[in-house]
Amino acid sequence: MKKHNFSAGPCILPQEVFKEASQAILDFNNSGLSILEISHRSADFVSVMEEARSLALELLGLKDKGYKALFLQGGASMQFLMTAYNLLEKKAAYLNTGTWSSKAIKEAKLFGNVDEVASSKDKNFNYIPKSYAIPSDADYFHCTSNNTIFGTQMKEFPATNIPMVCDMSSDIFSREIDFSKFDLIYAGAQKNMGPAGTTLVVVKEEILGKASREIPSMMDYSVHIGKDSMFNTPAVYAVYVSLLTLRWIKAKGGIKAMEEHNNKKAELIYNEIDRNPLFTGFAAKEDRSAMNATFNLVDESHKETFDKMWKEAGVNGLNGHRSVGGYRASMYNALSLESVQVVVDLMKELENKV
Ligand code: PMP
Repeated sequence: MKKHNFSAGPCILPQEVFKEASQAILDFNNSGLSILEISHRSADFVSVMEEARSLALELLGLKDKGYKALFLQGGASMQFLMTAYNLLEKKAAYLNTGTWSSKAIKEAKLFGNVDEVASSKDKNFNYIPKSYAIPSDADYFHCTSNNTIFGTQMKEFPATNIPMVCDMSSDIFSREIDFSKFDLIYAGAQKNMGPAGTTLVVVKEEILGKASREIPSMMDYSVHIGKDSMFNTPAVYAVYVSLLTLRWIKAKGGIKAMEEHNNKKAELIYNEIDRNPLFTGFAAKEDRSAMNATFNLVDESHKETFDKMWKEAGVNGLNGHRSVGGYRASMYNALSLESVQVVVDLMKELENKV
C-alpha cells in the first residue's frame, strides 16, 4: 500500500517523477544507456543541466534579470558557509528564527562579525520576530523563509538597501514571493525540488567579487558560474530528478498553482488543530507554515493510541522533531489534499474515542 507521506525531507515527490526517473536509470532518452553511466559532459546531460538551470529561473520569475542558477553539492549546510565566504567582508546581519538560521550564524562568524538583528529563541522559535532594524552598513541580510523544524514561515520580508540572502530550503517553489527582492537564494533540493544530493543556488551576479579574501575554487560562486555549474562532476541524478520535478511544477501551473493547493492543505489541517480540543498548535497563528504544521497533544497520555492509529492507516513521518515534540505534518507540493484529510479524520476519530 502506498503510504501517506508527511516526511519532513527527504520527502514526497510526484509519482509521475518517480516513474520517469526510474525509467531513465534503465534507458535514458532511448539512448541504450542509463543516466547513471553517461558522462556529465555528454550532450544529453549538458542539456539536462541547462534546462534545469533555466527552468528554475523561469519558475521563480528571475529570467533575464541578472541572476544565475547553480546546482551545487554539500547541501544547504554548505551554503551557510559559502554565502559568508563569498559575501562577508566585515559584518553581516542575520535573523535567527531557529536551528537552521543558528547554524548559518555559526558558520558566518568564521568570516566576520554577525549582527543578530532579532531572535525568537526566547519562545523556542515558535514565532517570527517582526520589528527589527537592519544595519545599512552590513554586507548582507540573511534570513530563513520557512523553519522546517518549528513550523513557522516568514509571510513578509523586510525592506532593506543591502543585499538579501535567503535560505528557502523548505518552501521554495511552494508559494509566490517577489523573488527579485533577493540577491541570493539557496535551497537543498530534498523538499519541493527533488532528491537529496544537490542544492539550488540562485545568485545575482552583481553582488559577487566584492569580498577581498581569496576563495577556494569549489567555494567560489563565480567559478561555478564560469563553468556553467559543471566545475566538477555535478550530482547528475539529483539534478535530473530535480529537472523532472521542475517540469512537473510547470505543467501543473507553476508556483501559483502549487500555492493554491498548499493553502488548501494548510487550511484543512490548521482548522482541525484549532477545532479539536485534544490538540494544540505549536507555532504562533500568524506565522504558521503552510509547509510544516507543528502540533501537540494537550494530554500526552493519548500519544500511544494516536500513534498506533496513524501508523495503521498508512501515514508516514508524522512525528515532530525532537526539539518540539508532538507532531509535524510536512505538506510539500506533491502531497495530496486526500492525505491531509486522512490525518484530519484520524484526529476526529481520536476525539470520538477518548
Ligand atoms: N535549511 C533548512 C530550512 C532546512 O530545512 C535544512 C534541512 N532540513 C537545511 C537548511 C539543511 O539542509 P542540508 O541537510 O541540505 O544541508
